[in-house]
Amino acid sequence: MLLLGGTTEASDLTAKLARDERIELIVSLAGRTSRPLVRDAQLRAGGFGGADGLARYLGEESIALVVDATHPFAAVMPFNAATACQRAGVLLLKICRPAWAPAEGDRWTTVADLHEAAATLVARGARRVLLTTGRQELEPFRPLRGITFFVRAIVPPDLRGFEAATAVVARGPFELSGERALLSEHAIDTLVSKNSGGAATAAKIQAARELCIEVVMVRRPATPEVPLVHNVAEARRWIGARLRTGVE
Ligand code: NAP
Repeated sequence: MLLLGGTTEASDLTAKLARDERIELIVSLAGRTSRPLVRDAQLRAGGFGGADGLARYLGEESIALVVDATHPFAAVMPFNAATACQRAGVLLLKICRPAWAPAEGDRWTTVADLHEAAATLVARGARRVLLTTGRQELEPFRPLRGITFFVRAIVPPDLRGFEAATAVVARGPFELSGERALLSEHAIDTLVSKNSGGAATAAKIQAARELCIEVVMVRRPATPEVPLVHNVAEARRWIGARLRTGVE
């Protein structure tokens, strides 16, 4: 089995499947993290070279099942996996956590991408913004003037080119009390977030609701039409059923 990783779900599934003697597991990461936390399984890192490269790899490694547990905002890999698996005649399952949905009291503007998010900040006259889209997603915001940014990232972000920006270096999961304090202390008027879903980073949404803060929410990219489950437990059941009947 090849597990396309880079998410909490992938790590959880790895830990669960590592003890299953019926499965020989290879975990694949894009190679963006310098010290990835993968125990219990064979690890490979770096791209395959598109759908063609992945299809070749599936054949070479005699892979019978691919589980795509990449992040909901990974826009390319899910399509490569779908194409490669179809071509190689290999089973594919995608794990994708549900998106967050606005609740009573939320003040969301949903946008298609980061460029629209940046344009929305300008159109709305945002002044103090908590940016939680990740350190590799800063370009559309860098040239904006008249806005003070607080840029949250796991490792220190490159803030060159921003007029006014402060790094908030932190790794989730985040608690509600901390998110409330962060938004209040910096007098944030707008939160920018990708709709990643999941519990680990959901507290900022609730804190924004409580403090009546505007949220610019970036919609997820499209995904291919493939068998889909929403969490690790469902994935284990799906995989278990295939193991009982034989993945072929
Ligand atoms: P992407 O746009 O879908 O993928 C870009 C390229 O990176 C792919 O074409 C593939 O290269 C390579 N790649 C992606 N995931 C891979 C994997 N698991 N194993 C081997 N190669 C992989 O993905 P991305 O947005 O750059 O994300 C890269 C990784 O970070 C993913 O594993 C994803 O789960 C994780 N991640 C992404 C986000 C996000 O917001 N985008 C957030 C958290 C974690 P080739 O075409 O050469 O095979």
